[in-house]
Amino acid sequence: ARRALVAGNWKMNGSRDSNASLIHDIVLDVRKYPDIDVLVCPPAIYLESVGRQLEGSPVQLGGQNLCEQEKPGAFTGEIHGGMLRDVGCSHVIVGHSERRALYGEGDDRVAAKFRTAQICGLIPILCVGESLAERENGQTESVLARQLQAVLDRCGIEAFRRAVIAYEPVWAIGTGRTATPEQAQQAHAFLRDRLARSDAKIASSVRILYGGSVKAENAGALFGCPDVDGGLIGGASLKSVEFMAICAAA
Ligand code: 13P
Repeated sequence: ARRALVAGNWKMNGSRDSNASLIHDIVLDVRKYPDIDVLVCPPAIYLESVGRQLEGSPVQLGGQNLCEQEKPGAFTGEIHGGMLRDVGCSHVIVGHSERRALYGEGDDRVAAKFRTAQICGLIPILCVGESLAERENGQTESVLARQLQAVLDRCGIEAFRRAVIAYEPVWAIGTGRTATPEQAQQAHAFLRDRLARSDAKIASSVRILYGGSVKAENAGALFGCPDVDGGLIGGASLKSVEFMAICAAA
């Protein structure tokens, strides 16, 4: 059985004050859910202060992005994976659709980031997902296969022993339009099956999260699917009551 993971991707939101009150509430409530893993991914500039506030709690800390360079150096504006580790991160999101679409991150760069994350001792959360046009054109599975294969080619199946996958259909992100549990299950099973072609045991142990307009009201049905092992939560991770209700559903 895979342990559920509920991860909050705060995206470019928060302030010192709002972070402090959100983390206060999460830390108080999280002890009710000892059977799941809970992770928050604040903006990089707040990682250190949020990490300090999380000390002594089981809530884990993750980055939203990292530089693909394996060694620190002259890369203005970038953040090295070792720095994320240094401030207490265990995880880092790679290949979020917003980075792919708005910041030009292609499959190769995403795979490089995945690899660098692991070299730095971080667990990458690899985001994959099709756009609305791709779904309507019947390309969902080919897109997912391509995005996953880029990482398999560069890092190999063994790398998935220390990784998480997040299926995030682009049309469901921030739109209020959630994938149905059937759509999510189908995509998750497809991804797991692709990994199983290389190693059935690794495929059955890797956690695959669903992301895209997860709310307290739909989380239970999504998390009830056999291949859905938790969620990557955007907007609803910014409100403690909503986020903890999603944890309760996991
Ligand atoms: P929303 O939950 O706001 O749709 O965002 C999902 C997401 O992109 C998480 O990474």
